[in-house]
Amino acid sequence: MNILSFDIEEWYIESFLHGRGSDRFKVFDQYLDSILDVLDEQHTQATFFVIGQMALDFPQVVKRINDRGHDIGCHSYQHTWLNTMSRDEVYEDTRQAVDALEQCIGRKVKAYRAPAFSIGKENQWAFEILAKCGIEFDASVFPAAHDFGGFPDFGNQVPTLVKTPAGDIKEFPITISRLLNKEVAFSGGGYFRLFPFWFVNREMKKRDYNICYFHIGDLTPSSKMMSKENYERYYKEPATWLNRRKRHMKTNLGKKTALSKMNRLIRAWRFVSVAQANGLIDWENAPKLIIQ
Ligand SMILES: [Zn+2]
Repeated sequence: MNILSFDIEEWYIESFLHGRGSDRFKVFDQYLDSILDVLDEQHTQATFFVIGQMALDFPQVVKRINDRGHDIGCHSYQHTWLNTMSRDEVYEDTRQAVDALEQCIGRKVKAYRAPAFSIGKENQWAFEILAKCGIEFDASVFPAAHDFGGFPDFGNQVPTLVKTPAGDIKEFPITISRLLNKEVAFSGGGYFRLFPFWFVNREMKKRDYNICYFHIGDLTPSSKMMSKENYERYYKEPATWLNRRKRHMKTNLGKKTALSKMNRLIRAWRFVSVAQANGLIDWENAPKLIIQ
């Protein structure tokens, strides 16, 4: 089973950093349209994890995805990493985001992905909060080390039933591969941009379960280096010359070929949304994680 997912945040982040008059919105719209067209052509449904604030500021974007028959999941309210929030704050953030998205599309939001995969061992209580907010499926677990999140102790690389006092969460962890003793998430983000198509294709063939994840920002032309002020607002770390340079290189690596590579992948494989994948899994016999 291969799941296709997108994180939709670029419109929100652009307006957060540069205000509402940006030309970049048009570029994002065009890229989104081209993605939706390829999905139509392949008769493929995907899950789009969307920032809650976008339901208020850019409802037309959220509705456009929903109207084309895809699942809308929640990607937090304002892209604040869960591991920087208290339990009450995570509850408030999730509830607000789910409410805004549900009002926008007129149907229930059941899937969730934390910004920067920020559910780990220390804040695994977040699963219980997601269940309280009506979430049934989650795709936030990055079962390896990650810059801003990651859950190296998660243990499973396949769909896992997370049992919490508030109900079960069906977890779809990110697919990880080992390369030269390093764990790499080849099916999305920077590693997807870096690796050639044949490598991603070969790694996908090795397993029965893959989840691919893309951002529009992975595909659009290179962005300018962030100002010091914006860097600190966004990354919440010191805007040293080296930090800014490193992140700028990381976010722009391999962008030129990323769109055509992604389209080739969507055409080469049969993909499903998270909700469709749910129906294909024998949850009774899936691995379990019990949260007290
Ligand atoms: Zn995100």
